[in-house]
Amino acid sequence: MSGIMKFTGTVLKNLIHKPVTENYPQAEREYPERTRGKVSIDISQCVFCTLCAKKCPTGAITVDRAAQTWTIDPFGCIQCRCCVDHCPRKCLSMEQHYTSPSEEKTVETYTKQTTEEKQEEKEHA
Ligand code: SF4
Ligand code: SF4
Repeated sequence: MSGIMKFTGTVLKNLIHKPVTENYPQAEREYPERTRGKVSIDISQCVFCTLCAKKCPTGAITVDRAAQTWTIDPFGCIQCRCCVDHCPRKCLSMEQHYTSPSEEKTVETYTKQTTEEKQEEKEHA
């Protein structure tokens, strides 16, 4: 009998309270300040030393020094933060949100602008 009373109490409590789950991804979630989310780069500060790629345990980062590109496979990243902690230029950081859900596997490539490209952009601004 006490079991039924307990069960009824729980049902009534849940009828009054709002759901403890969130309607993700429709509802935006607020993450705690130190959440390890998506890795982002300030490519203008990168010197293409490849340290982040060497330290990445899953091989999610590729650095091409000749082409001045930095590439990450966000679905291969396990948010360990090794790359961020070892970057000598401190140009990597972890955003508070995660990579958006997707049906396709995509990689993100960032290219550093040359001085000439920067000058050209200034002239066209
Ligand atoms: S460790 Fe930093 S500076 Fe070196 S390649 Fe990676 S992001 Fe660039
Ligand atoms: S957070 Fe970890 S797994 Fe993700 S890219 Fe950096 S080193 Fe690789």
